[in-house]
Amino acid sequence: MTQRRTTIWGWGFEDEQPTPEQKKNIAKGIAESVGASDFSLDPEPRVEDIQLRTPRLSPPEALANICSIETYDRAAHAYGKALPDIVRAFRLDFPNPPDVVAFPRTEDDVVSVLDWCNQVGAAAIPFGGGSSVTSGVEPPTGDAYPGSVSIDLRYLDKVLEIDESSRAARIQAGVYGPALEAQLKPHGYTLRHYPQSFEFSTLGGWIATRSGGHFATLYTHIDELVESTRVVTPNGIVASRRLPGSGAGPSPDRMFIGSEGILGIITEAWMRLQHRPIYRASTAVHFEKFENGVEAIRLLSQSGLYPTNCRILDPTEVKRNNVGNGTGGSLLMLGFESADHPLEAWINRALECCTDLGGTTPNGVVIKGGGETTGRGGSVGDWRNAFIRMPYAFSTMAAMGAIFDTTESSIPWNRFHEFHAGVMRDVQSALDEVCGGGVLSCRFTHVYPDGPAPYFTFTGMGKKGSELEQWHEIKTAASEAVVRYGGTVTHHHSVGRTHRPQYEKQRPDLFASALQAAKAALDPQGLLNPGVLIDPRP
Ligand SMILES: Cc1cc2nc3c(=O)[nH]c(=O)nc-3n(C[C@H](O)[C@H](O)[C@H](O)COP(=O)(O)OP(=O)(O)OC[C@H]3O[C@@H](n4cnc5c(N)ncnc54)[C@H](O)[C@@H]3O)c2cc1C
Repeated sequence: MTQRRTTIWGWGFEDEQPTPEQKKNIAKGIAESVGASDFSLDPEPRVEDIQLRTPRLSPPEALANICSIETYDRAAHAYGKALPDIVRAFRLDFPNPPDVVAFPRTEDDVVSVLDWCNQVGAAAIPFGGGSSVTSGVEPPTGDAYPGSVSIDLRYLDKVLEIDESSRAARIQAGVYGPALEAQLKPHGYTLRHYPQSFEFSTLGGWIATRSGGHFATLYTHIDELVESTRVVTPNGIVASRRLPGSGAGPSPDRMFIGSEGILGIITEAWMRLQHRPIYRASTAVHFEKFENGVEAIRLLSQSGLYPTNCRILDPTEVKRNNVGNGTGGSLLMLGFESADHPLEAWINRALECCTDLGGTTPNGVVIKGGGETTGRGGSVGDWRNAFIRMPYAFSTMAAMGAIFDTTESSIPWNRFHEFHAGVMRDVQSALDEVCGGGVLSCRFTHVYPDGPAPYFTFTGMGKKGSELEQWHEIKTAASEAVVRYGGTVTHHHSVGRTHRPQYEKQRPDLFASALQAAKAALDPQGLLNPGVLIDPRP
């Protein structure tokens, strides 16, 4: 059976890319949004034209049937999915692909592949869906390693066991979002972890990067959903005990959650599940002033109501996503869901917090209950659709020379306004300088009682051939700004290689030494994902 292939220089499967006509419209929309009058689209490259250096390693006989040195496989594992990845792939620029891509079928295969890497000293790069936007799956450059092996976990894709009374499941780490939900659905369960990259990212990737998903409050990071982990390291397997909570010293799970592939390969995890919701209440609350919407969210975040959706879009986000019926202003996407109880009381109380600050609900409130529902009404649904479709514009952006990226952070409420003003000012000024202008917007992806997680998106027109340098300048300005004004360099996109310079400014030095010591204990040769988070060898 032929497997559907994903595109190397865009998002999604090769057979579901926008048509040439759609690409022209996407490009026109992007150009208009940044005030550019002119654009041209370079022709789409072809996989047949990719040329890679000869592999520096060849897998041993015993692993040959689970390893590939095919051009498509090596190129598809060379980069993640940030703009510089897409641009380099679009230019067929692959100077440093993995030499071998391993596709283990079992945990024993993972052990064998790591053993081989250990024997030959090869860099070993755990690979989930490859949706990293922080250069997290890229092989190391230079000659410190005789070669690199990308270890793709896609065949470890099963829900192995469900514990109904504890509402938890043992799940293999390579499962992609849709396949995971499809296996839980017949049992009436769901993980309800939906990062925007849900379709093309995996459970192991989510755990390794501390991803942020569906829940805007309470269970915001995957961390809260992990009950225990099983990790293969070059020095053996680390499996933690299933426990609802524990005070027995530092948590082994917490050491591997967010370890970004530098300590071991997560092969499976027990995950806390949710019953599938049957009651829903949602609305889009309009605020003339962004500040009033922000204050309403602060009140909501401290109200104990814990809305599932509680995300404000600033006026530029509203316009860019074409939601809100052209009313201008900001929109607060508000929603509750439950498998247990109707939600009128919850949303009515939440709306009181909003109306006190001038919020209005021009499209009313959608309340559904008692049966599985799929439709989403008004601006909430429009925004969700725009959100899911957005990545399909990636290859068009590369073809037209657009510069696009995000910076996402979090900040305590008492510093939010200064933080927001500072980041907007600095990133806009970088956009003006580098691209002669561009669009910058802000929304909240998650909110906590002590502060929000603001997410900034920037778009400008680049100069073809200089996009990488231009992107780097603006992205660096953005990452420097969020750290300078007191936030984190990343709330859920991970550190990878891209955010390392700013991560090093925010994390304590002694903590880096402790992490280094943990790595030395688990991966003495420093083979796992070198260059991510810390230097691989002291
Ligand atoms: C369009 C788009 C939207 C996105 N939206 C979100 C979002 O809403 N929320 C969010 O949090 N992130 C988002 N991201 C970022 C990315 O999807 C996440 O970081 C995701 O968790 C990565 O999962 P993955 O399976 O693709 O991992 P990969 O990209 O393959 O790997 C990411 C890192 O984890 C390591 N890794 C992967 N699997 C394992 C494993 N089994 N064991 C050990 N290490 C492993 C890799 O070595 C690498 O360092 C988005 C990215 C894109 C391109």
